[in-house]
Amino acid sequence: MPCFLIMLLFHNGADEEDGLLQQEPDWRLIVPGKRSFVRQGGDFVLEFVRVNQQAFDLRWTDVSSPREFISAGHTSARGSSVKIRVLGCHGSDQLLDCHGQMLQCRPCAFLINDTVLLDAGTVGSRLTLPEQMKISHVLLSHLHFDHIKDLPTLADNLVGESGTSLVVAAIPEVLGGLRAHIFNSSVYPDFFRLPDAGRSVLIPHPLQIDREWTISGLRIVPIRVNHLVPTVGFLISDERATVLYSADTYQTDDIWHAASSMPNLKAAFIEVSYPNAHATLAKSAKHLTPELLGHEFKKIGRPDLPVYVYHVKPRFQSVIETELRQLPIPHITVLEENLELVF
Ligand SMILES: [Zn+2]
Ligand SMILES: [Zn+2]
Repeated sequence: MPCFLIMLLFHNGADEEDGLLQQEPDWRLIVPGKRSFVRQGGDFVLEFVRVNQQAFDLRWTDVSSPREFISAGHTSARGSSVKIRVLGCHGSDQLLDCHGQMLQCRPCAFLINDTVLLDAGTVGSRLTLPEQMKISHVLLSHLHFDHIKDLPTLADNLVGESGTSLVVAAIPEVLGGLRAHIFNSSVYPDFFRLPDAGRSVLIPHPLQIDREWTISGLRIVPIRVNHLVPTVGFLISDERATVLYSADTYQTDDIWHAASSMPNLKAAFIEVSYPNAHATLAKSAKHLTPELLGHEFKKIGRPDLPVYVYHVKPRFQSVIETELRQLPIPHITVLEENLELVF
């Protein structure tokens, strides 16, 4: 039920701008700019709580249980500049039965301001060809397949479009791995040299750890995190907002400390992959559990910072949501595909 509600609410972007949220077939939520708005159905309460000018929480309470489900969204506020469209936000690809509604979980990919793709786990199944052609840069956190899965088909889709090329920005270990293991003319054509070496579809750009890089009006700082393979998270900033993207990581320090010094830090996208009962697996696979997230989040030193959890393994979705609700983090959201966030 919660998934159903949130997805419907966010499908109607045009109406969000006008402060009017519609839910088919007979729900109609008017959001008149008040801080809080409550609508009660037969067995649940849906509460709209404004966090700030751009953000709101949706609190869904099952009256019969009772239990509370907190999700969140953002208005498409005019003038805001860091827009993040969630193409995929799970740690695997799976069709999930979510309280009777089917939820298609997809590997991680986030489209920033329509032109910068942050990880490439999901592209072609979510974007039309014209939308894919708008992408100018792809930022990759690491080489694991769930973060690069759709890069080959993205390149293949664009190779016939004259003048279209993509800058693939990653640390050298990732660029080297792509060329050695994926675009090696055996697994897939070498789109770093096709259609010809002078005007290839994919253009590599090596990122340096802790070194700022500016693209499309965004400042990108890659910071090493603690994963099984060489991996960087990112601090992504424009003039008014900074967003933290943890990438896949176990316990780490540098990225939290770097984020804590950012004056305009607006949100942290932090991975959680396994429930607390699988702490041993999380340690060996170098991922976080809800309990570990609680410890790591404190290192940022911003207890009011909105947290967006992603990379949940779909089979653990329900138990992870339950454990996250028990954390003392006031603004925490489990991301879902199709959300669009503006900072
Ligand atoms: Zn990984
Ligand atoms: Zn991953």
